[in-house]
Amino acid sequence: MTQTTSIIEKTEQFGAKNYHPLPIVISKAEGVWVEDPEGNRYIDMLSAYSAVNQGHRHPKIIQALKDQADRITLTSRAFHNDQLAPFYEKVAGLTKKDMVLPMNTGAEAVETAVKTARRWAYDVKGVADNQAEIIVCEDNFHGRTMTAVSLSSSNAYKRGFGPMLPGIKIIPYGDAKALREAITPNTAAFLVEPIQGEAGIIIPPAGFLKEVRDICTENNVLFIADEIQSGLARSGKLFACDWEEVEPDMYILGKALGGGVMPISVVAANRDVLGVFEPGSHGSTFGGNPLACATSIAALEVIEEEQLVQRSHDLGEYLMGELRKIPHADIKEIRGRGLFIGIELNVSARPYCERLKELGLLCKETHENVIRLAPPLVISQEDLDYALSKIKEVFA
Ligand code: PLP
Repeated sequence: MTQTTSIIEKTEQFGAKNYHPLPIVISKAEGVWVEDPEGNRYIDMLSAYSAVNQGHRHPKIIQALKDQADRITLTSRAFHNDQLAPFYEKVAGLTKKDMVLPMNTGAEAVETAVKTARRWAYDVKGVADNQAEIIVCEDNFHGRTMTAVSLSSSNAYKRGFGPMLPGIKIIPYGDAKALREAITPNTAAFLVEPIQGEAGIIIPPAGFLKEVRDICTENNVLFIADEIQSGLARSGKLFACDWEEVEPDMYILGKALGGGVMPISVVAANRDVLGVFEPGSHGSTFGGNPLACATSIAALEVIEEEQLVQRSHDLGEYLMGELRKIPHADIKEIRGRGLFIGIELNVSARPYCERLKELGLLCKETHENVIRLAPPLVISQEDLDYALSKIKEVFA
C-alpha cells in the first residue's frame, strides 16, 4: 500500500464525509508546484479556492510568519497588539475605507457583514426592529455557517439545517431590474459576489455593478461586495468591482488576505457603516491576532511588489485566448477575468479533472460541469504553457 492510499483510507475512516476530494495527498509545495508523498509533482490550478494567490509558501510571507511567531502570536482583543494597527492601515489604504473589522474565515466575515448591515438598518436608516431585509443572488456562495447557508439558494447547502435565518430575499444574478423591484423601505443591504466563483465563474452582464451602485445609492441600501474569492488580484484587478470602477459600501475579504498561510478575513467600510459597533457587540478570540496580521501585511505587500494584478490580467487574457482555440464538442464556453477562468462543459467536469490530475495538473470541478482554472498568480509563463499543453492533451 502506498503512503497516499493509507493516508486517504485513514482520512475516510475518521473524517466526516463533507468533502469529495480528488484522490491525491499533498505533502509539500512551493510556488505553483505541489508534491505527493511518493514524490509526484503537480501544478496547482486551484490555489486553495484562491487563498494561495501569492503562491505556496511565499518566502516573504513565511519569513513574516516566522518572525512574528518568535515574538507574540495571540493576545485576544482584551489587549492591544502591535500588528493590528499597521494591518488596519494597510487594508484601509487598499480598500479606501475608513474602518476595518478583522475576523478569521470568510464565512465569519460574511456573518459580520450581515450583522453590520442589520445594525446599520436599525440604528442609522431607521428600519423598525427585526424587520431588516438582505437581498442576495441565486447560486451565491457566501460560506457554510447558518447565516451563509440561509443566504443560499442551494438545497444541497441547506437540507436538514433549518430553520433558516429570516429576512432574506433572493433575486437572479446580474438582474438589476429584479434588484430594484425587491427593495423595500426595510432593505438593509444587497450582498453580491462581483464574479460568482463557486457558481462556475459567472461574470455579471456589463454595467450590472454600476447599476447596482446607482440603485443602492438611490434607495439608501448598502452595497456589500463579497470579494473573498474574486478580490486581491485574482480577477486581474485588485477587486473585481474595479472592472466597472464601482466602490461598494462594504468589502468582504478573506482567503488570499492571509497569503494561504493564516486564516484572516475582514469587513472594510466607512465610519458611517462600521461605526455601528460598540464594545461587546461583536468579536472573535482569534480575530486580529498578531500572527495573522503580520502575515497578512506581508501577503498584501507581495501582491503589490510582484504586480500580481497585472500578471493575473495579462496571463489570464493569454490563457483564455489559447483555450478558446481548442476545438472540442464537450466545451461549451470559456469565460473569466484574469486568472479566474471557467471552462464550461456540456458534460460532467469530474472525469476531466481526474484525467488532468493523471497528467500532473490539479483542477477541481465546480457546479458539476465547470473546470475552474485559478493557478497561483505568481505562475511563470513557462509553467502556464506547460499547464496549457496538458489541458490541450486532455481535450485531444
Ligand atoms: N464567500 C465567497 C465568495 C467564497 O468563495 C467563500 C469560499 O469559497 C466564502 C465566502 C467562505 O469562505 P470560508 O470558506 O473561508 O469560510
